Amino acid sequence: MRSKIAYAQKPSKLSRGFALGTQGYELSARRKVTAKFSASLTVLFFTGYSVSGRELRLPNIHRIYFDHNATTPVDPEVLAAMLPYFSAEFGNASSIHSFGQGTRGAVERARIAVAALIGAQASEIAFTSGGTESDNLAIFGIAGGESSARRHIITTQIEHSAALHSCEALAKRGIDVTFVAVNRAGVVDPAEIRRALRPETVLITIMHANNEIGTLQPLEEIGRIAKEADVWFHADAVQSVGKVPLDVNALGVDLLSLSAHKIYGPKGVGALYVRSGTPMEPLMFGGSHERDRRPGTENVPGIVGLGRAAELAREKLSEDAARISRLRDKFERGVLAAVSGARVNGADALRVPNTSNIIFPDISSESLLIALDMKGLACSSGSACSSGAVNPSHVLTAIGLAAAEARSSLRFSLGRHTTEADVDLVIAMIPQEVARLRAISPENKKPVEVK
Ligand code: PLP
Repeated sequence: MRSKIAYAQKPSKLSRGFALGTQGYELSARRKVTAKFSASLTVLFFTGYSVSGRELRLPNIHRIYFDHNATTPVDPEVLAAMLPYFSAEFGNASSIHSFGQGTRGAVERARIAVAALIGAQASEIAFTSGGTESDNLAIFGIAGGESSARRHIITTQIEHSAALHSCEALAKRGIDVTFVAVNRAGVVDPAEIRRALRPETVLITIMHANNEIGTLQPLEEIGRIAKEADVWFHADAVQSVGKVPLDVNALGVDLLSLSAHKIYGPKGVGALYVRSGTPMEPLMFGGSHERDRRPGTENVPGIVGLGRAAELAREKLSEDAARISRLRDKFERGVLAAVSGARVNGADALRVPNTSNIIFPDISSESLLIALDMKGLACSSGSACSSGAVNPSHVLTAIGLAAAEARSSLRFSLGRHTTEADVDLVIAMIPQEVARLRAISPENKKPVEVK
């Protein structure tokens, strides 16, 4: 981060970066210019943001946020609930004195709120630092034990990297992992999970809602299969909690991950549901916090924020879901009607109400993302940018898209504060930007004759 900022401070290199930037993101990526100034900084140049020292100034335009699957703003009620725990209520929740007892009470009230959101017992909730830690704790905690005689895991090809890379890390330690394929709609077939079972299978780990395309997986059926086979079942529900009704007993899961910052809570705090009697090993060692499942002094303001966010999610879930899905459907109808060739990824599956992933043929998703950001719309591409190359999303290729189609897809994720007026503006903005980019795309240009 420091090198990016230092680089931006040098005017000569800044202008050079911009000059290259005007030729298009793909060009700079191909030339591996991004090795010198990272892709994220390239985005800054394109979007017209200016970096001065450590301060990032944004141009003063109306901004619309369609990236709620990346993170959500902290709800003012959540912030208000958290604030006292940074100062007046600062006690260590493990202390016996009254300072400690005050914060202990707040932590336990938050535990009850989180449990109520997912139909669990409060004692089955362990607070963590977020979805990534919860996934790691579930997967390594069940399948990572050296002494385990059962050394096979079943997962899918469309998991979030938090689960996918945990499974890959275990594979390197000699644990067999089956990455089950999904269909073109982005849904795993429970029969495929059954077929993948072996006598030595210890864990099935499957996400509830996919973060890129929003498709919901048939967890209830998979839960029954896991139970029959006597295999532990973990669900990554980071993208479904607060968006669809969810009950750990109805789903038949033994472990379930969730994260506060996806439900209008703070970043850096989450929870893992661990069904009573599930033999999960801790990942870290220290105190006996969180019933020996996760040591470390509790992040009390964060936990309080998660608790309040969970209460609000429970209160607002059905109203939010109905309103947001109506806006999402209007958004999709509007875009599909106005952009030739546009298609919705995962359209044939059940999806969470807020997510829409659309292919814009003949357009680079990165170029469109940047163009839209300059107009004030924040959305996301699922591609991973590493060492100057833009890799197509593993989720989009798993549902059968060609690499070029995957590189032409953008994710739009609406939220609690999205308005009808936002959707109307976006429906007008996207076709204009797509048309502009298509007009300047090298594929659509006649070659210049060299005389
Ligand atoms: N799982 C899924 C499905 C996610 O979408 C995310 C975050 O985007 C995570 C796990 C990781 O959560 P966190 O950002 O809290 O570490």
